[in-house]
Amino acid sequence: MATTQNKDYYATLGVKKTATPEEIRKAFRKLARKYHPDVNPGDKKAEEKFKEISEANDILSDEKKRKVYDQLGFYSDQIDPAQAEAYARQQGMGGHPPVDFGGFDFSGFGGGSSSAGSSGWGGFKDIFSGIFSGAQQQNRPRGPQPGTDLEYQATVDFWTAIRGGQARLQVHRQETCPTCHGQAHTGGSMPCPECNGTGQVTQMGGRMKFNIACPRCSGTGRTANACATCHGEGMIHRTETVEFRIKPGTRDGQRIRLQGKGNAGLNGGAAGDLFVIVRTGSHPVFTRMGDDIHVTVPVTVPEASLGAKVDVPTIDGRAQLKIPPGTQSGQKLRMRERGVESAQRAGQRGDQIVTVEVTVPHLQDERSREIMRELAKLNPQDPRVGLFEKL
Ligand SMILES: [Zn+2]
Ligand SMILES: [Zn+2]
Repeated sequence: MATTQNKDYYATLGVKKTATPEEIRKAFRKLARKYHPDVNPGDKKAEEKFKEISEANDILSDEKKRKVYDQLGFYSDQIDPAQAEAYARQQGMGGHPPVDFGGFDFSGFGGGSSSAGSSGWGGFKDIFSGIFSGAQQQNRPRGPQPGTDLEYQATVDFWTAIRGGQARLQVHRQETCPTCHGQAHTGGSMPCPECNGTGQVTQMGGRMKFNIACPRCSGTGRTANACATCHGEGMIHRTETVEFRIKPGTRDGQRIRLQGKGNAGLNGGAAGDLFVIVRTGSHPVFTRMGDDIHVTVPVTVPEASLGAKVDVPTIDGRAQLKIPPGTQSGQKLRMRERGVESAQRAGQRGDQIVTVEVTVPHLQDERSREIMRELAKLNPQDPRVGLFEKL
């Protein structure tokens, strides 16, 4: 049979054996603030320490429990204060060798199987109800908890955003363990490691040995098998490729909600959602602004001056654009409904905005230069005159 080590709860809280309830309360509060799991996320050592001080507080802050502990050097809810006192007196606590109470069944005495909370967390909630979340979850059954939402960015190429299609995204998410279905343990049990399967542990009380029901397995000698897949967490972390539909006309920055693709819930709680922020790719010729497409088209001086019909690229291929006579460089021409099909309003399209860029010819021969000079003589207007009028 396993003998469990008696714990020094006074040392754990750093108080004297004569400490008043107020001193115990203060010492616990101070330590709890330092080691609370919410203050030390992921710190296993702090978590252990927090459990220890919570257990010490649970015993020492309860007058009855403290009495048993003071008499025997350990606490068990199977022994009430009167029994503890009787045993201590009976043995005189003198210089005798340890007396073995092996196999003694305390449940035969009145109050032997007291059901007073002994979870170790009992007295804590009243004091710290505000920040009480992390620690309690480990030992107490919980109701359904919804899974958290996830947000990812996904870049889709220029054409997929315009025409629609499928996109893929790698997502790291928490999933309900497929082996135990979130139960954290698989069917069956194993011998309790605390009592080696005997269901009883020996505690030293002064010079006496007490055999009491093992607190870990409640005397059954068995503990549930922790699920090997999720190591008893009920959740696994997975990297998953999520495929989703891109609607035609999806804009840069648009948020797509994929219901139930976020983190899995706990205890039957609904899964969270996955939000995908779409980033649309660029194109070497077209610039997209909302549902409009912008493109810069070079034209010659005669085309700009005399007017012309020129081929311009659109997202549907080549299209003809009429350049009006006297078009200036930088002037914008609108091609109605040649832009992107709207994702919001069915049947509507944006426009294509063409910025005209007049290219000036490098004249290589004398004949051309002569014609240009003649043209200037026929058109003597000074385009800069307006600038000086405003000085
Ligand atoms: Zn056990
Ligand atoms: Zn599992």
